[in-house]
Amino acid sequence: STSANTAAASNGYSVAAEALAALGIKHIYGVIGIPVTELASSAQAAGIRYVGFRNEQAAGYAAAASGYLTGVPGVLLTVSGPGAVHGIAGLSHASVNCWPMVMISGSAEQGEVGKGAFQELDQVAAVRQFCKYAGRATSIRDIPAIITAAVKAATSGRPGAAYVDLPSDVLMASVSGSQRAPPRQVPLGGQAAGPSLQREHADRQTVAQAAQMLAGAARPLLVIGKGAAYAQADAHLRQLVDTAGLPFLATAMGRGVVPDSHPLNVNAARSLALAQADVALVFGARLNWQLHFGEPPKWNARVKFVLVDAAATERDIQKAALVLKGDAGAVACQLQEAFSQQGVHGPASWTQQLQQKAAASKAKLEQRLESDTFPLDYNTSMRVIRDAISAVTPAPVVVAEGANTMDSARVILEPVNEGRLRLDAGTWGTMGVGLGYAIAAANVRPDRLVVAVEGDSAFGFSGMECETIARYQLPIVVIIFNNNGIYGGDRREDRLRQAAARGAQAGGFSQDPIPTAFVADSRYELIMEAFGGESFSVNSSSQLASACRIAFAARRPALINITIDPMAGVESGNVHAFNAPKANL
Ligand code: ADP
Ligand code: MG
Repeated sequence: STSANTAAASNGYSVAAEALAALGIKHIYGVIGIPVTELASSAQAAGIRYVGFRNEQAAGYAAAASGYLTGVPGVLLTVSGPGAVHGIAGLSHASVNCWPMVMISGSAEQGEVGKGAFQELDQVAAVRQFCKYAGRATSIRDIPAIITAAVKAATSGRPGAAYVDLPSDVLMASVSGSQRAPPRQVPLGGQAAGPSLQREHADRQTVAQAAQMLAGAARPLLVIGKGAAYAQADAHLRQLVDTAGLPFLATAMGRGVVPDSHPLNVNAARSLALAQADVALVFGARLNWQLHFGEPPKWNARVKFVLVDAAATERDIQKAALVLKGDAGAVACQLQEAFSQQGVHGPASWTQQLQQKAAASKAKLEQRLESDTFPLDYNTSMRVIRDAISAVTPAPVVVAEGANTMDSARVILEPVNEGRLRLDAGTWGTMGVGLGYAIAAANVRPDRLVVAVEGDSAFGFSGMECETIARYQLPIVVIIFNNNGIYGGDRREDRLRQAAARGAQAGGFSQDPIPTAFVADSRYELIMEAFGGESFSVNSSSQLASACRIAFAARRPALINITIDPMAGVESGNVHAFNAPKANL
């Protein structure tokens, strides 16, 4: 920007804002206050969109998702002390999911540190285990270099979180134009990189070995993870699938990178594919709990893993037969070239077996979805939402969280025919991410409608962000699966009542609500109405269908509150195996 070159004095706020703008940052999410308020307005002056939230936690989740969706780190701005602590929620979530994000927090005046300054906290120490880089500017001249280092750390190698600490005296200091270090530029990943970025290619010999291994496989399988989605490897992976004739499936957020409509999509035959594959080519996904640790009984005990990853974990490297270290798009290209000479095409019988199984599971699911229940259950509600979503062009971004809500959304809200159209609780199973994600998605994909499918519990973590949605007039439709509590408030009533009765004998609070319950039949839609958005309360499939139709077409802030049968679904969704045995409750 032009003011960087003038001789006029600038303060720390404008130096920071211009450094961010020069690095290609276009969005900042946060909550302002002492000492960072002016940083948000300086950012606006530098052409950056500032989206002000009601809580740093939701803003942090927005920054994390923004980084994932664009390849440019999402920036979170917070005040010192408590604001920074709230922000750590987003910072840690971004780290665990390998999404690029930079948290910038104001901090206490350096001369007052140690004396009990206003909102004092050693934030650099506090964030250390949650990020790849944490730096503090001790003078105004440090600001551009520290912001540059943070952006670089967030986007290089395994993407993740970085932290920048800006003490209030540094922000308020001034420097004359001629003394200023110029803002820097670093190459960014993802969409921001453009075609000029040198994406990391894998070692050629290892690529040849991998191609050979796949060509010799009897039952090869391609697994697409959210690292491939982040890398925007869509076109290259599609070519690879076509050339190699590889059956593929995707993790929850890897869906759509190669369209679900592709005939080699065998997502619906996941169990069979994992149990039988002899060589699994895994693009941008860790062999963690979401992929059953790459172990039996879910996986074939003799499967050979070929991992494509910018920075695979130590454990995954040990587990793999081969690791292709590089960018998902670049390596897909390399493999595609190798296959265009040699071809893979595992026995046609393997692919056919998977396709038949997938078709059969789909038919079974469709049969289940024919139900039209009253009160509404997950299947019926999700089918109605699916049909409404498939009538919208271009396809909406869909956010889903909650236990049963997220599980059934993953299975039913298909097809997904583009990458980065699905966002959920991710690697950490973080609940409360939904509204932050939705706001980020609406912000960075302004061409898209955003539909946030939320359990009533998941929504509650950041329900006040409805005000943020309304303030910026974002095209977000929040749909709440209201089953009166966590896992369906009173579904365990008998067991829990017995426990309460024992507690009462011990002198406890026998009249208290059970731990999983919320106020029954809450009118969540009134929260959106309070801020001028559209509100719908529905309890039948026809009401839900018409609410979706109206709200999706309006592309304005809206909330649809669905009354769901509290006994529908299962406790904890699909992770109910993690619950304590019943006898312990
Ligand atoms: P999922 O949740 O879909 O299983 P994970 O979050 O477990 O995916 O894994 C994502 C992986 O993608 C991480 O190991 C990360 O290092 C990797 N990754 C990140 N960026 C890239 C990239 N540009 N190319 C290839 N892999 C990447
Ligand atoms: Mg619930």
